[in-house]
Amino acid sequence: MLTPFDTSKLWIGGEWVPSSDGRTLPIENPSSGLTVGAIGRASRDDVDAAVTAAERALNGPWGALTAFERGRLLSRLSNLVLAHTELLTELEVADVGKPVSQARADVVALARYLEFYAGAADKLHGQTIPFLADYTVYTLREPHGVTAHIIPWNYPMQIMGRSVVGALAAGNAVVVKPAEQASLTSLAFGWLSQQAGFPAGAINIVPGVGAEAGATLSGHPSIGHVSFTGSFDVGVQIQSAAARHAVPVTLELGGKSPQILFDDADLETALPVLVRAGLQNAGQTCSASSRILVHRRVHDHVVEAMSSIYRTLRVGPASADLDLGPLISATQKIRVERHLDAARATGAKQVATGRIVDEAPEGGHYVAPQLYTHVNPREPLAQEEIFGPVQVVLPFDEEEEAVRLANGTPYGLVAGVWTRDAGRQHRLVRQLKAGQVFLNDYGAAGGVELPFGGTGHSGHGREKGFEALYGFTKLKTVAARHR
Ligand code: ADP
Repeated sequence: MLTPFDTSKLWIGGEWVPSSDGRTLPIENPSSGLTVGAIGRASRDDVDAAVTAAERALNGPWGALTAFERGRLLSRLSNLVLAHTELLTELEVADVGKPVSQARADVVALARYLEFYAGAADKLHGQTIPFLADYTVYTLREPHGVTAHIIPWNYPMQIMGRSVVGALAAGNAVVVKPAEQASLTSLAFGWLSQQAGFPAGAINIVPGVGAEAGATLSGHPSIGHVSFTGSFDVGVQIQSAAARHAVPVTLELGGKSPQILFDDADLETALPVLVRAGLQNAGQTCSASSRILVHRRVHDHVVEAMSSIYRTLRVGPASADLDLGPLISATQKIRVERHLDAARATGAKQVATGRIVDEAPEGGHYVAPQLYTHVNPREPLAQEEIFGPVQVVLPFDEEEEAVRLANGTPYGLVAGVWTRDAGRQHRLVRQLKAGQVFLNDYGAAGGVELPFGGTGHSGHGREKGFEALYGFTKLKTVAARHR
Protein backbone atom coordinates (compact mmCIF):
# COMPACT_ATOMS: atom_id res chain seq x y z
CA MET A 1 0.00 0.00 0.00
CA LEU A 2 1.33 3.43 -0.92
CA THR A 3 1.37 5.87 1.99
CA PRO A 4 3.25 9.15 2.46
CA PHE A 5 4.53 7.90 5.85
CA ASP A 6 6.06 4.63 6.96
CA THR A 7 3.16 2.64 8.45
CA SER A 8 5.54 0.31 10.30
CA LYS A 9 6.86 3.11 12.52
CA LEU A 10 5.48 4.71 15.67
CA TRP A 11 4.90 8.46 16.00
CA ILE A 12 6.69 9.50 19.21
CA GLY A 13 8.05 12.91 20.19
CA GLY A 14 7.58 14.32 16.69
CA GLU A 15 9.53 11.53 14.98
CA TRP A 16 8.84 8.27 13.17
CA VAL A 17 10.61 5.55 15.12
CA PRO A 18 10.66 1.76 14.79
CA SER A 19 9.41 -0.19 17.80
CA SER A 20 12.23 -0.80 20.28
CA ASP A 21 12.26 -4.53 19.58
CA GLY A 22 11.60 -4.22 15.83
CA ARG A 23 8.31 -6.12 15.95
CA THR A 24 5.38 -5.34 13.64
CA LEU A 25 1.78 -6.46 13.15
CA PRO A 26 0.16 -7.30 9.79
CA ILE A 27 -2.45 -5.04 8.19
CA GLU A 28 -5.33 -7.15 6.90
CA ASN A 29 -7.77 -5.85 4.31
CA PRO A 30 -11.16 -7.11 5.61
CA SER A 31 -12.68 -7.03 2.11
CA SER A 32 -10.23 -9.64 0.82
CA GLY A 33 -8.61 -11.16 3.90
CA LEU A 34 -5.22 -10.36 2.34
CA THR A 35 -2.27 -8.85 4.19
CA VAL A 36 -1.51 -5.46 2.65
CA GLY A 37 1.27 -4.10 4.87
CA ALA A 38 2.53 -3.83 8.42
CA ILE A 39 2.21 -1.51 11.39
CA GLY A 40 4.65 -1.13 14.26
CA ARG A 41 3.96 -3.01 17.47
CA ALA A 42 4.77 -0.76 20.42
CA SER A 43 6.56 -2.41 23.33
CA ARG A 44 6.24 -1.35 26.96
CA ASP A 45 9.40 0.74 26.48
CA ASP A 46 7.87 2.48 23.48
CA VAL A 47 4.75 3.41 25.46
CA ASP A 48 6.99 4.70 28.20
CA ALA A 49 8.93 6.78 25.66
CA ALA A 50 5.66 8.22 24.32
CA VAL A 51 4.50 9.24 27.80
CA THR A 52 7.89 10.85 28.46
CA ALA A 53 7.73 12.73 25.14
CA ALA A 54 4.26 14.00 26.05
CA GLU A 55 5.48 15.16 29.46
CA ARG A 56 8.34 17.00 27.77
CA ALA A 57 5.92 18.72 25.40
CA LEU A 58 3.80 19.85 28.35
CA ASN A 59 6.84 21.27 30.10
CA GLY A 60 8.00 22.84 26.83
CA PRO A 61 6.46 24.46 23.75
CA TRP A 62 3.05 22.73 23.87
CA GLY A 63 2.41 23.64 27.50
CA ALA A 64 3.44 27.25 26.78
CA LEU A 65 0.76 27.84 24.13
CA THR A 66 -2.29 29.91 24.88
CA ALA A 67 -5.75 28.41 24.42
CA PHE A 68 -6.34 30.33 21.20
CA GLU A 69 -3.00 29.17 19.79
CA ARG A 70 -4.04 25.57 20.46
CA GLY A 71 -7.34 26.34 18.72
CA ARG A 72 -5.48 27.67 15.69
CA LEU A 73 -3.41 24.49 15.41
CA LEU A 74 -6.58 22.38 15.59
CA SER A 75 -8.14 24.56 12.93
CA ARG A 76 -5.12 24.10 10.66
CA LEU A 77 -5.27 20.36 11.24
CA SER A 78 -8.96 20.38 10.31
CA ASN A 79 -8.12 21.97 6.96
CA LEU A 80 -5.33 19.45 6.38
CA VAL A 81 -7.68 16.56 7.16
CA LEU A 82 -10.16 17.87 4.58
CA ALA A 83 -7.38 18.47 2.05
CA HIS A 84 -6.38 14.80 2.47
CA THR A 85 -9.90 13.38 2.32
CA GLU A 86 -9.05 10.98 -0.50
CA LEU A 87 -5.95 9.59 1.23
CA LEU A 88 -7.74 9.11 4.56
CA THR A 89 -10.73 7.52 2.82
CA GLU A 90 -8.49 5.08 0.94
CA LEU A 91 -6.67 4.12 4.12
CA GLU A 92 -9.92 3.45 5.97
CA VAL A 93 -11.42 1.50 3.06
CA ALA A 94 -8.37 -0.79 2.96
CA ASP A 95 -7.83 -1.07 6.72
CA VAL A 96 -11.37 -1.25 8.14
CA GLY A 97 -13.40 -2.40 5.12
CA LYS A 98 -15.74 0.60 5.28
CA PRO A 99 -17.70 1.30 2.10
CA VAL A 100 -16.14 4.36 0.45
CA SER A 101 -18.92 6.83 1.25
CA GLN A 102 -19.03 5.77 4.92
CA ALA A 103 -15.24 6.13 5.19
CA ARG A 104 -15.47 9.58 3.60
CA ALA A 105 -18.19 10.57 6.07
CA ASP A 106 -15.80 9.65 8.88
CA VAL A 107 -13.15 12.00 7.44
CA VAL A 108 -15.69 14.81 7.38
CA ALA A 109 -16.67 14.01 10.98
CA LEU A 110 -13.02 14.11 12.10
CA ALA A 111 -12.65 17.53 10.47
CA ARG A 112 -15.85 18.66 12.22
CA TYR A 113 -14.47 17.59 15.62
CA LEU A 114 -11.31 19.57 14.90
CA GLU A 115 -13.35 22.62 13.89
CA PHE A 116 -15.66 22.38 16.89
CA TYR A 117 -12.85 22.05 19.44
CA ALA A 118 -10.69 24.63 17.63
CA GLY A 119 -13.47 27.10 18.34
CA ALA A 120 -14.08 25.81 21.87
CA ALA A 121 -10.44 25.89 23.06
CA ASP A 122 -10.47 29.55 24.11
CA LYS A 123 -14.02 29.47 25.45
CA LEU A 124 -13.31 27.03 28.26
CA HIS A 125 -12.95 28.93 31.50
CA GLY A 126 -13.57 28.83 35.21
CA GLN A 127 -16.03 30.88 37.26
CA THR A 128 -16.04 33.37 40.08
CA ILE A 129 -18.03 32.27 43.10
CA PRO A 130 -19.69 34.63 45.60
CA PHE A 131 -18.40 33.82 49.09
CA LEU A 132 -17.63 35.70 52.30
CA ALA A 133 -17.31 39.49 52.03
CA ASP A 134 -13.54 39.54 52.33
CA TYR A 135 -12.88 36.80 49.76
CA THR A 136 -12.53 36.55 46.00
CA VAL A 137 -13.06 32.97 44.89
CA TYR A 138 -12.56 31.60 41.40
CA THR A 139 -12.04 28.29 39.64
CA LEU A 140 -9.44 27.28 37.07
CA ARG A 141 -9.88 24.50 34.52
CA GLU A 142 -6.49 22.85 34.18
CA PRO A 143 -5.47 20.01 31.86
CA HIS A 144 -4.85 16.59 33.41
CA GLY A 145 -1.38 16.49 31.83
CA VAL A 146 -0.71 13.42 29.67
CA THR A 147 -3.96 11.80 28.58
CA ALA A 148 -4.21 8.25 27.23
CA HIS A 149 -6.62 7.36 24.44
CA ILE A 150 -7.36 3.74 23.63
CA ILE A 151 -9.28 3.56 20.38
CA PRO A 152 -11.31 0.70 18.89
CA TRP A 153 -11.34 -0.41 15.24
CA ASN A 154 -14.93 0.40 14.27
CA TYR A 155 -14.70 4.21 13.83
CA PRO A 156 -11.00 5.07 14.16
CA MET A 157 -11.33 8.61 12.81
CA GLN A 158 -14.56 9.55 14.56
CA ILE A 159 -13.37 8.22 17.90
CA MET A 160 -9.99 9.95 17.50
CA GLY A 161 -12.01 13.08 16.89
CA ARG A 162 -14.23 12.88 19.92
CA SER A 163 -11.56 11.63 22.31
CA VAL A 164 -8.22 13.09 21.31
CA VAL A 165 -9.27 16.45 19.90
CA GLY A 166 -11.14 17.60 23.02
CA ALA A 167 -8.19 16.60 25.18
CA LEU A 168 -5.81 18.66 23.01
CA ALA A 169 -8.14 21.66 23.04
CA ALA A 170 -8.09 21.54 26.84
CA GLY A 171 -4.27 21.61 26.82
CA ASN A 172 -3.38 17.97 27.46
CA ALA A 173 -0.62 16.14 25.57
CA VAL A 174 -1.91 12.85 24.20
CA VAL A 175 -0.71 9.28 23.77
CA VAL A 176 -2.98 7.33 21.45
CA LYS A 177 -3.12 3.54 21.23
CA PRO A 178 -5.17 2.71 18.14
CA ALA A 179 -6.65 -0.78 17.65
CA GLU A 180 -4.34 -3.46 16.23
CA GLN A 181 -6.87 -4.06 13.39
CA ALA A 182 -7.12 -0.37 12.37
CA SER A 183 -4.22 1.99 12.99
CA LEU A 184 -3.61 3.65 9.64
CA THR A 185 -5.75 6.76 9.92
CA SER A 186 -4.48 7.34 13.47
CA LEU A 187 -0.92 7.29 12.11
CA ALA A 188 -2.02 9.65 9.34
CA PHE A 189 -3.38 11.97 12.05
CA GLY A 190 0.13 12.05 13.56
CA TRP A 191 1.63 12.75 10.14
CA LEU A 192 -0.80 15.61 9.44
CA SER A 193 -0.34 17.07 12.93
CA GLN A 194 3.31 17.70 12.13
CA GLN A 195 2.32 19.59 8.97
CA ALA A 196 -0.17 21.62 11.01
CA GLY A 197 2.71 22.69 13.27
CA PHE A 198 1.93 20.87 16.52
CA PRO A 199 5.01 20.92 18.77
CA ALA A 200 6.88 17.60 19.05
CA GLY A 201 5.36 15.30 21.67
CA ALA A 202 1.93 16.97 21.88
CA ILE A 203 0.52 14.04 19.90
CA ASN A 204 2.00 10.54 20.07
CA ILE A 205 0.62 7.48 18.28
CA VAL A 206 1.66 4.03 19.43
CA PRO A 207 -0.07 1.16 17.61
CA GLY A 208 0.25 -2.20 19.30
CA VAL A 209 -1.45 -5.04 21.09
CA GLY A 210 -4.11 -4.27 23.71
CA ALA A 211 -2.77 -6.54 26.46
CA GLU A 212 0.73 -5.09 25.98
CA ALA A 213 0.78 -1.47 24.75
CA GLY A 214 -2.81 -0.77 25.86
CA ALA A 215 -2.35 -2.27 29.32
CA THR A 216 0.98 -0.45 29.82
CA LEU A 217 -0.61 2.85 28.84
CA SER A 218 -3.74 2.52 30.98
CA GLY A 219 -1.70 1.51 34.03
CA HIS A 220 1.08 4.07 33.50
CA PRO A 221 1.85 6.06 36.66
CA SER A 222 2.53 9.30 34.75
CA ILE A 223 -0.77 9.69 32.90
CA GLY A 224 -3.54 11.93 34.18
CA HIS A 225 -6.61 10.48 32.47
CA VAL A 226 -7.66 7.55 30.25
CA SER A 227 -10.39 7.61 27.60
CA PHE A 228 -11.44 4.25 26.31
CA THR A 229 -14.04 3.08 23.82
CA GLY A 230 -14.45 -0.66 23.39
CA SER A 231 -15.80 -3.76 25.02
CA PHE A 232 -17.17 -3.97 28.58
CA ASP A 233 -14.59 -6.54 29.69
CA VAL A 234 -11.63 -4.49 28.50
CA GLY A 235 -13.22 -1.35 29.97
CA VAL A 236 -13.26 -2.99 33.39
CA GLN A 237 -9.59 -3.98 32.99
CA ILE A 238 -8.69 -0.43 32.01
CA GLN A 239 -10.57 1.13 34.91
CA SER A 240 -8.84 -1.33 37.28
CA ALA A 241 -5.40 -0.56 35.81
CA ALA A 242 -5.99 3.20 36.08
CA ALA A 243 -7.34 2.81 39.63
CA ARG A 244 -3.91 1.60 40.80
CA HIS A 245 -2.78 5.23 40.49
CA ALA A 246 -6.22 6.80 41.14
CA VAL A 247 -6.33 8.01 37.53
CA PRO A 248 -9.80 9.05 36.27
CA VAL A 249 -11.29 7.30 33.24
CA THR A 250 -13.96 7.92 30.63
CA LEU A 251 -15.43 4.66 29.37
CA GLU A 252 -17.75 4.14 26.41
CA LEU A 253 -18.54 0.44 26.32
CA GLY A 254 -21.23 0.01 23.72
CA GLY A 255 -24.87 -0.86 24.11
CA LYS A 256 -27.99 -2.69 23.09
CA SER A 257 -29.83 0.44 22.15
CA PRO A 258 -33.57 0.38 21.49
CA GLN A 259 -35.86 2.36 19.23
CA ILE A 260 -39.42 2.34 20.52
CA LEU A 261 -42.12 2.75 17.93
CA PHE A 262 -45.67 3.54 19.06
CA ASP A 263 -48.73 3.04 16.85
CA ASP A 264 -49.20 6.80 16.36
CA ALA A 265 -45.67 7.26 14.92
CA ASP A 266 -44.95 8.62 11.47
CA LEU A 267 -44.05 5.22 10.03
CA GLU A 268 -42.85 6.44 6.69
CA THR A 269 -40.21 8.65 8.30
CA ALA A 270 -39.30 6.08 10.91
CA LEU A 271 -38.78 3.02 8.71
CA PRO A 272 -35.50 3.87 6.95
CA VAL A 273 -34.10 5.21 10.24
CA LEU A 274 -35.07 2.03 12.12
CA VAL A 275 -32.98 -0.02 9.70
CA ARG A 276 -30.10 2.37 9.03
CA ALA A 277 -29.46 2.96 12.72
CA GLY A 278 -28.92 -0.76 13.20
CA LEU A 279 -26.88 -1.56 10.13
CA GLN A 280 -24.55 1.39 9.72
CA ASN A 281 -20.95 0.14 9.50
CA ALA A 282 -22.37 -3.41 9.22
CA GLY A 283 -23.74 -3.08 12.77
CA GLN A 284 -20.25 -2.56 14.22
CA THR A 285 -21.33 0.62 15.96
CA CYS A 286 -21.45 1.25 19.71
CA SER A 287 -24.69 3.18 19.35
CA ALA A 288 -26.24 0.74 16.84
CA SER A 289 -29.96 0.39 17.42
CA SER A 290 -30.05 -3.40 17.55
CA ARG A 291 -33.48 -3.68 19.23
CA ILE A 292 -36.68 -2.38 17.67
CA LEU A 293 -39.61 -2.34 20.10
CA VAL A 294 -42.90 -2.03 18.25
CA HIS A 295 -46.47 -1.61 19.47
CA ARG A 296 -48.33 -4.83 18.72
CA ARG A 297 -50.98 -3.03 16.66
CA VAL A 298 -48.39 -2.09 14.00
CA HIS A 299 -45.89 -4.92 14.65
CA ASP A 300 -46.62 -7.13 11.63
CA HIS A 301 -46.79 -4.18 9.29
CA VAL A 302 -43.46 -2.81 10.56
CA VAL A 303 -41.75 -6.21 10.32
CA GLU A 304 -42.95 -6.56 6.73
CA ALA A 305 -41.84 -3.03 5.80
CA MET A 306 -38.43 -3.48 7.45
CA SER A 307 -38.09 -6.85 5.69
CA SER A 308 -38.67 -5.19 2.32
CA ILE A 309 -35.79 -2.81 3.04
CA TYR A 310 -33.56 -5.68 4.22
CA ARG A 311 -34.18 -7.58 0.98
CA THR A 312 -32.78 -4.65 -1.05
CA LEU A 313 -29.50 -4.45 0.91
CA ARG A 314 -26.28 -5.54 -0.73
CA VAL A 315 -23.02 -6.48 0.95
CA GLY A 316 -19.66 -6.44 -0.78
CA PRO A 317 -16.11 -5.14 -0.87
CA ALA A 318 -15.61 -1.68 0.60
CA SER A 319 -14.35 -0.31 -2.72
CA ALA A 320 -17.71 -1.17 -4.37
CA ASP A 321 -19.43 1.22 -1.92
CA LEU A 322 -22.52 -0.90 -1.37
CA ASP A 323 -24.88 -0.71 1.63
CA LEU A 324 -22.64 -2.84 3.83
CA GLY A 325 -18.99 -3.82 3.76
CA PRO A 326 -17.34 -6.81 5.44
CA LEU A 327 -16.89 -7.24 9.19
CA ILE A 328 -13.47 -6.30 10.51
CA SER A 329 -12.03 -9.80 10.93
CA ALA A 330 -12.59 -13.54 10.71
CA THR A 331 -12.83 -13.58 14.53
CA GLN A 332 -15.66 -11.06 14.47
CA LYS A 333 -17.50 -12.94 11.73
CA ILE A 334 -17.29 -16.19 13.70
CA ARG A 335 -18.52 -14.41 16.86
CA VAL A 336 -21.55 -13.00 15.06
CA GLU A 337 -22.39 -16.28 13.34
CA ARG A 338 -22.16 -18.20 16.62
CA HIS A 339 -24.63 -15.79 18.21
CA LEU A 340 -27.05 -16.21 15.33
CA ASP A 341 -26.78 -20.02 15.27
CA ALA A 342 -27.49 -20.12 19.00
CA ALA A 343 -30.46 -17.74 18.64
CA ARG A 344 -32.04 -19.79 15.83
CA ALA A 345 -31.58 -22.93 17.92
CA THR A 346 -33.67 -21.36 20.69
CA GLY A 347 -36.53 -20.32 18.37
CA ALA A 348 -35.56 -16.92 16.95
CA LYS A 349 -37.02 -16.52 13.47
CA GLN A 350 -34.99 -14.95 10.68
CA VAL A 351 -37.59 -13.00 8.70
CA ALA A 352 -35.41 -11.24 6.13
CA THR A 353 -31.83 -11.01 4.92
CA GLY A 354 -29.82 -8.91 2.52
CA ARG A 355 -27.52 -10.36 -0.11
CA ILE A 356 -23.76 -10.80 -0.40
CA VAL A 357 -22.86 -9.90 -3.99
CA ASP A 358 -21.18 -12.52 -6.19
CA GLU A 359 -18.05 -10.43 -6.71
CA ALA A 360 -17.29 -10.32 -2.95
CA PRO A 361 -13.85 -11.92 -2.58
CA GLU A 362 -13.81 -15.36 -0.99
CA GLY A 363 -11.44 -14.37 1.84
CA GLY A 364 -13.46 -11.30 2.96
CA HIS A 365 -15.44 -11.35 6.20
CA TYR A 366 -18.95 -10.92 4.86
CA VAL A 367 -22.16 -11.42 6.81
CA ALA A 368 -25.55 -10.64 5.25
CA PRO A 369 -27.79 -8.32 7.31
CA GLN A 370 -30.49 -10.25 9.15
CA LEU A 371 -33.76 -9.31 10.81
CA TYR A 372 -35.18 -11.48 13.61
CA THR A 373 -38.53 -11.83 15.36
CA HIS A 374 -39.79 -14.32 17.99
CA VAL A 375 -36.83 -13.50 20.22
CA ASN A 376 -37.18 -13.95 23.96
CA PRO A 377 -36.13 -10.58 25.46
CA ARG A 378 -33.98 -12.41 28.01
CA GLU A 379 -32.02 -14.35 25.37
CA PRO A 380 -28.51 -13.25 24.35
CA LEU A 381 -29.70 -11.99 20.93
CA ALA A 382 -31.85 -9.40 22.73
CA GLN A 383 -29.41 -8.78 25.59
CA GLU A 384 -25.83 -8.80 24.30
CA GLU A 385 -24.00 -6.51 21.96
CA ILE A 386 -23.55 -8.63 18.81
CA PHE A 387 -21.59 -6.01 16.81
CA GLY A 388 -22.83 -7.34 13.49
CA PRO A 389 -25.60 -6.55 10.96
CA VAL A 390 -28.44 -7.92 13.06
CA GLN A 391 -31.63 -6.43 14.50
CA VAL A 392 -34.42 -7.96 16.54
CA VAL A 393 -38.03 -6.75 16.60
CA LEU A 394 -39.86 -7.19 19.92
CA PRO A 395 -43.60 -6.43 20.32
CA PHE A 396 -45.17 -4.61 23.27
CA ASP A 397 -48.72 -3.75 24.32
CA GLU A 398 -48.41 -1.00 26.94
CA GLU A 399 -46.15 2.03 27.34
CA GLU A 400 -44.96 0.70 30.67
CA GLU A 401 -43.97 -2.63 29.05
CA ALA A 402 -42.04 -0.74 26.35
CA VAL A 403 -40.05 1.08 29.03
CA ARG A 404 -39.40 -2.16 30.91
CA LEU A 405 -38.13 -3.86 27.73
CA ALA A 406 -36.04 -0.84 26.72
CA ASN A 407 -34.40 -0.71 30.15
CA GLY A 408 -34.13 -4.48 30.44
CA THR A 409 -30.46 -4.93 29.52
CA PRO A 410 -27.31 -4.06 31.49
CA TYR A 411 -26.55 -1.31 28.96
CA GLY A 412 -27.83 2.25 28.55
CA LEU A 413 -26.25 4.21 25.70
CA VAL A 414 -28.84 5.59 23.27
CA ALA A 415 -32.61 5.27 22.89
CA GLY A 416 -35.04 6.47 20.23
CA VAL A 417 -38.75 7.11 20.73
CA TRP A 418 -41.15 7.41 17.83
CA THR A 419 -44.51 8.90 18.80
CA ARG A 420 -46.48 12.06 18.07
CA ASP A 421 -47.75 12.23 21.67
CA ALA A 422 -45.71 14.97 23.38
CA GLY A 423 -46.71 13.89 26.87
CA ARG A 424 -45.52 10.36 26.19
CA GLN A 425 -42.29 11.64 24.65
CA HIS A 426 -41.28 13.48 27.80
CA ARG A 427 -42.49 10.75 30.17
CA LEU A 428 -40.24 8.30 28.36
CA VAL A 429 -37.29 10.66 28.23
CA ARG A 430 -37.29 10.62 32.04
CA GLN A 431 -37.76 6.89 32.39
CA LEU A 432 -35.31 5.60 29.82
CA LYS A 433 -31.90 4.39 30.94
CA ALA A 434 -29.66 6.02 28.32
CA GLY A 435 -27.07 8.75 27.88
CA GLN A 436 -28.81 10.09 24.77
CA VAL A 437 -32.48 9.98 23.84
CA PHE A 438 -33.76 10.89 20.38
CA LEU A 439 -37.38 11.83 19.81
CA ASN A 440 -38.66 10.96 16.32
CA ASP A 441 -35.13 10.34 15.09
CA TYR A 442 -32.04 8.32 15.92
CA GLY A 443 -28.36 9.15 15.61
CA ALA A 444 -28.61 12.70 14.24
CA ALA A 445 -25.70 12.73 11.80
CA GLY A 446 -22.97 11.94 14.29
CA GLY A 447 -23.78 14.93 16.46
CA VAL A 448 -20.31 16.33 17.20
CA GLU A 449 -21.95 18.99 19.38
CA LEU A 450 -24.06 16.56 21.42
CA PRO A 451 -22.65 15.11 24.67
CA PHE A 452 -22.43 11.34 24.34
CA GLY A 453 -21.81 8.49 26.75
CA GLY A 454 -23.58 5.83 28.71
CA THR A 455 -24.92 4.55 31.95
CA GLY A 456 -24.68 1.05 33.47
CA HIS A 457 -22.51 -1.32 31.41
CA SER A 458 -22.33 1.30 28.64
CA GLY A 459 -19.80 3.16 30.78
CA HIS A 460 -19.48 6.60 32.29
CA GLY A 461 -18.20 10.06 31.45
CA ARG A 462 -19.18 12.13 28.43
CA GLU A 463 -17.44 12.80 25.14
CA LYS A 464 -18.48 15.15 22.32
CA GLY A 465 -19.78 18.67 22.66
CA PHE A 466 -18.55 21.20 25.17
CA GLU A 467 -19.30 18.79 28.02
CA ALA A 468 -16.28 16.65 27.04
CA LEU A 469 -13.94 19.49 27.92
CA TYR A 470 -14.96 19.27 31.58
CA GLY A 471 -13.87 15.62 31.58
CA PHE A 472 -10.53 16.49 30.01
CA THR A 473 -9.74 19.05 32.72
CA LYS A 474 -9.52 19.15 36.48
CA LEU A 475 -10.97 21.97 38.49
CA LYS A 476 -8.91 24.05 40.89
CA THR A 477 -10.69 26.33 43.36
CA VAL A 478 -8.78 29.44 44.40
CA ALA A 479 -9.89 31.32 47.53
CA ALA A 480 -8.15 34.68 48.03
CA ARG A 481 -8.71 36.47 51.35
CA HIS A 482 -8.39 40.25 51.21
CA ARG A 483 -5.80 41.03 53.91
P1 ADP B 1 -12.99 -5.37 20.40
O1 ADP B 1 -13.46 -6.53 21.23
O2 ADP B 1 -14.08 -4.69 19.68
O3 ADP B 1 -11.75 -5.62 19.59
P2 ADP B 1 -11.62 -4.28 22.59
O4 ADP B 1 -12.35 -3.72 23.74
O5 ADP B 1 -11.00 -5.64 22.74
O6 ADP B 1 -12.61 -4.24 21.40
O7 ADP B 1 -10.47 -3.31 22.09
C1 ADP B 1 -10.59 -1.92 22.01
C2 ADP B 1 -9.23 -1.31 22.22
O8 ADP B 1 -8.75 -1.72 23.51
C3 ADP B 1 -8.16 -1.75 21.23
O9 ADP B 1 -7.30 -0.64 20.97
C4 ADP B 1 -7.41 -2.82 21.99
O10 ADP B 1 -6.08 -2.99 21.56
C5 ADP B 1 -7.43 -2.26 23.40
N1 ADP B 1 -7.24 -3.27 24.47
C6 ADP B 1 -7.57 -4.59 24.45
N2 ADP B 1 -7.24 -5.18 25.61
C7 ADP B 1 -6.69 -4.22 26.40
C8 ADP B 1 -6.17 -4.19 27.74
N3 ADP B 1 -6.13 -5.28 28.51
N4 ADP B 1 -5.71 -3.02 28.22
C9 ADP B 1 -5.75 -1.89 27.47
N5 ADP B 1 -6.22 -1.86 26.21
C10 ADP B 1 -6.69 -2.99 25.67
